[in-house]
Amino acid sequence: MPKQTLVAEIGGVRVGGANPVVVQSMTNTDTADAAATAVQVAQLADAGSELVRITVNNKHAAAAVPELFERLADAGCAVPVVGDFHYNGHILLRDYPRTAALLAKYRINPGNVGTSRRDENFQSIVRIAVENGKAVRIGVNWGSLDQRLLTEMMDENGRRENPKDAGDVLRDAIVESAVRSADLAVETGLAPNQIVLSAKVSGVRDLIAVYRQLAPLRDHALHLGLTEAGMGAKGIVATAAALSPLLIDGIGDTIRVSLTPRPGGDRSEEVRVAQQILQSLEIRSFEPQVTACPGCGRTTSTFFQEMTEDIQSHIRERMPDWRLRYPGVEDLQVAVMGCVVNGPGESKHADLGISLPGNLETPKAPVYADGAHLRTLKGDRIVEEFKEILDGYVARRYARG
Ligand code: SF4
Repeated sequence: MPKQTLVAEIGGVRVGGANPVVVQSMTNTDTADAAATAVQVAQLADAGSELVRITVNNKHAAAAVPELFERLADAGCAVPVVGDFHYNGHILLRDYPRTAALLAKYRINPGNVGTSRRDENFQSIVRIAVENGKAVRIGVNWGSLDQRLLTEMMDENGRRENPKDAGDVLRDAIVESAVRSADLAVETGLAPNQIVLSAKVSGVRDLIAVYRQLAPLRDHALHLGLTEAGMGAKGIVATAAALSPLLIDGIGDTIRVSLTPRPGGDRSEEVRVAQQILQSLEIRSFEPQVTACPGCGRTTSTFFQEMTEDIQSHIRERMPDWRLRYPGVEDLQVAVMGCVVNGPGESKHADLGISLPGNLETPKAPVYADGAHLRTLKGDRIVEEFKEILDGYVARRYARG
């Protein structure tokens, strides 16, 4: 297991050490439009994002941050907001001190802080972070890797007797950029625990290799994410495939899922996917899980699919209330199974399960609670009755005290 990381304080959220892995996300609104950005930040926070990053790309965006915070306060949204800076962060943070004071953390990409005055610009941002008591994420990205460092390392590799593969040198350069930048930030006066490191690439195997290389080198908290993961199933699967081996090994203190939303799509999807990755790995629990079989030729029509969806929606609708009234309910396991083959067995493994009748089976649906047969449902109200049983089970099992 990797050694424990240091704990960063980011607007009241603790990242690193033994703290739970934090879910974060990023807006895609124009930050200069404070109203639209406030709406999206609040949506992401409502979905469960524990940190929300906004781009601060020009003076209009930097100037809009105080209004954004006012709007969030009016909406009762206290999620820490992180500023994402490239190229001109040293200028914007200097020229907009109120913005520098409000943001909970600054993200700096060491490949995007200039060329001839790179270290100077980087240190300017770090000094502003120190003055304001802010954490900094040093976020290396292979799409904007420090070219001077890469060239230096490629040249050095070329002089070796047995040169490494170019891909290996590229990964080494990503890690080296993160480590050198972190060391420079510490030399500049930033407390080591206020540094979060990330080293993002878009290839699954590359990401795993880079983080396995980086994690043992320094104690700073680590932010994980597969950059430019893509859209839909591709983005979700690739992110889960990349993050899971690392998280299982204890690498990663905060995660983001960089999904490309469909036009007009819901940005909060990336938050739900991040939560589902953590819950599937049994690292954190966010909402009750419904285990359902895929269905097959033995399932009766679409009833089984509709019932699974109905129960899933029922749980989602109830969760805001259940979360307050029934602590621990997020660990509940519900099984909805399509026939007698695996239905009773899977239902008994869950806290509460129902096994629907398959084709040519007697039209009865046995319900199991805590591994034992509870009741058998029949007729047209199976779904309604199961939801009533579910509500009663939750109230009995998770009531406070
Ligand atoms: S439990 Fe039954 S319906 Fe579901 S996939 Fe297995 S055999 Fe098919």
